[in-house]
Amino acid sequence: QRDAPRPHVVLLASPGAGHLIPLAELARRLADHHGVAPTLVTFADLDNPDARSAVLSSLPASVATATLPAVPLDDIPADAGLERMLFEVVHRSLPHLRVLLRSIGSTAALVPDFFCAAALSVAAELGVPGYIFFPTSITALYLMRRTVELHDFAAAGEYHALPDPLELPGGVSLRTAEFPEAFRDSTAPVYGQLVETGRLYRGAAGFLANSFYELEPAAVEDSKKAAEKGTFPPAYPVGPFVRSSSDEAGESACLEWLDLQPAGSVVFVSFGSFGVLSVEQTRELAAGLEMSGHRFLWVVRMPSLNDAHRNGGHDEDPLAWVPDGFLERTRGRGLAVAAWAPQVRVLSHPATAAFVSHCGWNSTLESVATGVPMIAWPLHSEQRMNAVVLEESVGMALRPRAREEDVGGTVVRRGEIAVAVKEVMEGEKGHGVRRRARELQQAAGRVWSPEGSSRRALEVVAGKWKAAAQK
Ligand code: UDP
Repeated sequence: QRDAPRPHVVLLASPGAGHLIPLAELARRLADHHGVAPTLVTFADLDNPDARSAVLSSLPASVATATLPAVPLDDIPADAGLERMLFEVVHRSLPHLRVLLRSIGSTAALVPDFFCAAALSVAAELGVPGYIFFPTSITALYLMRRTVELHDFAAAGEYHALPDPLELPGGVSLRTAEFPEAFRDSTAPVYGQLVETGRLYRGAAGFLANSFYELEPAAVEDSKKAAEKGTFPPAYPVGPFVRSSSDEAGESACLEWLDLQPAGSVVFVSFGSFGVLSVEQTRELAAGLEMSGHRFLWVVRMPSLNDAHRNGGHDEDPLAWVPDGFLERTRGRGLAVAAWAPQVRVLSHPATAAFVSHCGWNSTLESVATGVPMIAWPLHSEQRMNAVVLEESVGMALRPRAREEDVGGTVVRRGEIAVAVKEVMEGEKGHGVRRRARELQQAAGRVWSPEGSSRRALEVVAGKWKAAAQK
């Protein structure tokens, strides 16, 4: 097949570097293993240029890159919010995308990230099949499909709520409070947008999801059935694409400290790039870690402050919000660092034994790839659903129980935290989640071998592109 033409595929990353890393990895795999000629397209606006060029410059020459020209955004109010900005950038850039696709000539497929699914209209206009890059789970896609199906025969503007509880593939039921926010209330305006997005998704030829078969087999099987029935496009699990630890090179106090700890002894605590706890929750977490008696590495964020908490000097330093004497009492067995840690390197370190995580999808995949069991502590978006699935279906996480308090909303109390940490480190259930994490790590390590599940799934798609290019 040496002379077969390499089909040309255009991948479109959403504005902002958030999903660029997995999409760049997908492009690299398509070029290296599947005989495809990819061009990775980014937006000029809203991007963090340094983060973007670091990712793009790490790509092999077999992946072409292009950037869409900046679009005017001066008329958008400064307080419009990130989502509105993303929406505007994508919509206003569609003419530029059309020009780019025309200049490339014959394109076998357009692969927009799910935030720029609006680009499917340009693909349709040019007769190019569109495959959506879905950076989270097939289970999240299931929620989207169920929402669209619910509205198949609905009149315009008529919105129905998903059942409560919703039965997920794999035998897990999800209560409404555990849905991602936008799916919870069918009378909220955002729900209508969701239904419209789901309808747009139906126009796609398929989804390339950042997941893998062994992680959510029931959801993958269920999506196959839906595709066979023709109710929703097929979803191909082609991940996991995780940040490589070599992207985080350089000295780090966390790593130096981990080097001094015994193997398998440290609980890593971090809530992603945006995770914020209340002042009260930050103090309970500190007390719970202390009570557990285990070693810990905690990435402490500034808590959410209300006026009662603002007191001048402490507004910038997250470590000022842990209880008095906590750092001294835990010195030697605990390290608290402000704001950020090189997470993949920390998770890969032999001293790290467990991960208290907000269950963002990237963190979840990183935990899977490094075989580290989780204590699931979801905060928002699809994290509650991930936590339920990770505990009840995947079996690699435990959840401390949060209690509704009279004041201050939901709080996880110190006792619950200490119990969860001890359980993961020493308990019977902990034994189960640790074993499951190791099994999944091994499974994730096999997905790219020649007969591995993600490699085969990606070849099914690439095969369609190659067949079309030969016609
Ligand atoms: N991350 C990190 N250090 C931190 C916090 C986060 O390296 O202190 C990285 C983490 O490895 C992951 C990403 O930031 O790749 C967070 O993505 P995720 O989807 O888990 O959560 P989000 O930040 O989107 O809520």
